Amino acid sequence: MKYCSHCGSSVSLQIPPGDNLPRRVCEDCGTVHYQNPNVVVGCVPQWQDQILLCKRAIEPRSGFWTVPAGFLENRETLQEAAIRETAEEALANVDLGSLLAIVNVPHASQIHMMFRARLLEPDFGPGDETLESALYTEDQVPWSLIAFPSVRFTLERFFADRASGGEELHITTVGPIKY
Ligand SMILES: [Zn+2]
Repeated sequence: MKYCSHCGSSVSLQIPPGDNLPRRVCEDCGTVHYQNPNVVVGCVPQWQDQILLCKRAIEPRSGFWTVPAGFLENRETLQEAAIRETAEEALANVDLGSLLAIVNVPHASQIHMMFRARLLEPDFGPGDETLESALYTEDQVPWSLIAFPSVRFTLERFFADRASGGEELHITTVGPIKY
């Protein structure tokens, strides 16, 4: 950010009075433009013994597989976002279940929140940000082509819980992808 979204004047990095981190502060109207982490919301849609994955059509990690997920919008609940992202990316309708995973992604200033879900019917397809969507059994999952560490963590915990009959909430922190 170079210019104030309130008045259009230049902004500069300053530590506001009473604060302890540098913020972008308008040199004219004094507005402090805080920037905080973004929330990414997704789900693991299940159909019988299969789960629905999406092959990404956009960077980062185009061509790699993920669960339907995306940024929480303003004035939206987590559950609404998970259902909306699944409709947008996989053209699929889900009933959400319990919260499966919270993944801190501090290097990207993001929090990823993943739910369990059930496909309402075996209808799906590629949305605008997806090359292909497909159902996979656990032993068919393309583990070497999973897009992000948070998705890998989510899927591993999903299958482990399904095998044990549990529904735990799993919390972890991941670092950057090592290529
Ligand atoms: Zn301003």
